[in-house]
Amino acid sequence: MAGCGGVTVTGRFPRVRVRLGLLEGKKRVELDRTAPEVPRSAALAASAAAGADASFAQRVIAWQRVHGRHDLPWQNTRDPYRIWLSEIMLQQTQVAAVVPYYQRFLARFPDLQALAAASEDAVLEAWAGLGYYARARNLHAAAKAVMAGGGGFPRSLEAVQALPGIGRSTAAAICAFAYGQRHAILDGNVKRVLARHFAIDGYPGERRVEQALWALSEALLPQTDIEAYTQGLMDLGAQLCVRHSPGCAACPLRDSCLALRQQRTGELPAARPAKVLPQRETHLLVLHADGELLLEKRPAPGIWGGLWCFPEIDAEQLPEQVMARFGIAVEHVQTLGVIEHGFTHFRLRIRPLLAQGVRPPRAEQPGRLWLTPADALGAAVPVPVRRILLTLHGDLLTAPGTRSG
Ligand code: SF4
Repeated sequence: MAGCGGVTVTGRFPRVRVRLGLLEGKKRVELDRTAPEVPRSAALAASAAAGADASFAQRVIAWQRVHGRHDLPWQNTRDPYRIWLSEIMLQQTQVAAVVPYYQRFLARFPDLQALAAASEDAVLEAWAGLGYYARARNLHAAAKAVMAGGGGFPRSLEAVQALPGIGRSTAAAICAFAYGQRHAILDGNVKRVLARHFAIDGYPGERRVEQALWALSEALLPQTDIEAYTQGLMDLGAQLCVRHSPGCAACPLRDSCLALRQQRTGELPAARPAKVLPQRETHLLVLHADGELLLEKRPAPGIWGGLWCFPEIDAEQLPEQVMARFGIAVEHVQTLGVIEHGFTHFRLRIRPLLAQGVRPPRAEQPGRLWLTPADALGAAVPVPVRRILLTLHGDLLTAPGTRSG
């Protein structure tokens, strides 16, 4: 596709004329001003694809072989289960944080059969602390779906992508690493590398910009060495082309990087447009008795579905509600520090109320647990509950009025 002289991009972008030439040794991509008006996303994608050249992939591959990561626990295997697990854990989580979770999870669920046979509670517990628990629920659901379908992990990109919790880029990475298939990836790191190298303006979460980046990612794919190339793009984004202060001096793409040439590495890719999210508020009851805390299982679906949480409570009617719901008389109610927590579509202000009660002598009820703070920290709890537990841990057992035994 790339070459000197004019290139008319046909097919999906039939009326965009793209000229690719050398200007004092620098690559130039320009839209033909005389071309008929086209949607901006098409123009962006066309210019991005036209900017691709074969040496890009070769430089990434050569760099990866020398400077990339080769000994992560999920590398040097073709087992799609292990690769899939790592790709899901690595979503929104750094490698260093993932490694111990990955190893513990695999020790507990060494293969698809073991994961599919586990209870959701056991899976969430093994995930506890990694956050974004929807990933664990989807992983579990996907394992069950694969086993229900005969037990073999799917081999085609489409079938992998059809599993719960697996998007296009994750499916492509799994197929590349497990089967050596040639598919384009576009995770957050890769978006950053491509947006900078090709000076793609606009927020990468915006549809037209994302389409342009996908077109580019596909156009850049090498014919061979897909594993090293895919890993190399990921490593470049994680090790050199980082969000702040990228290590351009050591980058194999520096000679052709437009953001570096234009001194725009600090502004590309464009930040998410500021959006004012609605604010909600809730009270959580941190009820303790006999050195233990009451946790309730959150209903699914819903926020924190399936996780163990302090009960939500109406602060105005605290003693009556606690008596009605739990049969417990409370005393020594104390306000703890406010916790702000962000969700995709709203912000939640949490006001925890610490209350001492007398634990009823009856047996545990389904969906409720009494746990010590240490045990609760090891359970599948959402991040704000973890923060409250860390605040309380150590203090609670010695708090005035707390019963022992
Ligand atoms: S030269 Fe710098 S900005 Fe460009 S791709 Fe490399 S690290 Fe990223």
